[in-house]
Amino acid sequence: MTRAPGQWTGDNEEKPAPAPLDRVQNLVNTIDIEIGQDRLARAEDAAPWLVANELLTADSALDAAELDFVCKVREALRALLVHNSGGPAPGAGELAVLREVAASGSAQAVIGDRGDVTWRATGDSLRARLAGLLLIVRDAQRDGNWQRLKACANDDCRWVFYDQSRNRGGAWCNMAVCGNRLKNRDFRARRRQPSR
Ligand SMILES: [Zn+2]
Repeated sequence: MTRAPGQWTGDNEEKPAPAPLDRVQNLVNTIDIEIGQDRLARAEDAAPWLVANELLTADSALDAAELDFVCKVREALRALLVHNSGGPAPGAGELAVLREVAASGSAQAVIGDRGDVTWRATGDSLRARLAGLLLIVRDAQRDGNWQRLKACANDDCRWVFYDQSRNRGGAWCNMAVCGNRLKNRDFRARRRQPSR
């Protein structure tokens, strides 16, 4: 991924997931691993982002331990999305982080005007709101959108994109940037092999 000066890569998502699944994508994409730009690295950057994305109330303080926990949740979610793009299943440590989130949350059934039933996370703490993201994951896992949310197959990138391709076979956040780079690498690797 690339960005213009003064911008965060996630501000211009090229392959956004539909709402509300984009909330999960947006959290995981708060770091651009390739260029080392992390929106959650400093509390002064992280707090406004967390408030704007409804994970933190405007009057809440954000301490270092909680911010560190959000970053762990971010990487645990990424592990699930690496698995969606054909990578290994999430490890025990990543699942433990998500289970910690689940244990901190509670939910309430909401009956809509047409009798539709949804679940809404209750509580205003950061952890309670992170647990709300798990409800979004759960809904997406049931409606099939989840499998389309993937981490880029380029190990140096791992940017999360929503795969709109008909056959759900997309592997790269951006074919021109990551897809071709890997292809070129494979090509060079083949050329380095001794000829017979
Ligand atoms: Zn990529």
